[in-house]
Amino acid sequence: MILGLAANLDQYGRPLCPCNFYPSKDENGNWPEGLYLPKEEEVKRRTWICACDEMQIYKYCHCLLFVTEEGLPITEYLPEGHEGREIYGLVKDPTPDKGRALGRVLERQKAEGGHRE
Ligand code: SF4
Repeated sequence: MILGLAANLDQYGRPLCPCNFYPSKDENGNWPEGLYLPKEEEVKRRTWICACDEMQIYKYCHCLLFVTEEGLPITEYLPEGHEGREIYGLVKDPTPDKGRALGRVLERQKAEGGHRE
């Protein structure tokens, strides 16, 4: 995981999530329509730059990168059926009041009716 992040940092200049799916461009330089972009395009956005939007909104790392002091991956925020939950069981977040900066901003905006101060 760490090596994958470092390799993407070296190659693309950003710590792009190493466990996401990135389609390759075809021989004409095009890629399939859909949710996922090739790495060279994805690094231009912030969605999958670690810590990604999912982490910053839900505190959800599907790569199990974030762990407790004992080294167990925090599985509390993973969806039911995620293999991390199946393997490690429910591992609670020891610092639930930390993180989720983007999620807190979105919650505040929603509570304020979608208006920014
Ligand atoms: S927080 Fe986890 S899922 Fe998100 S980019 Fe980093 S390693 Fe990938």
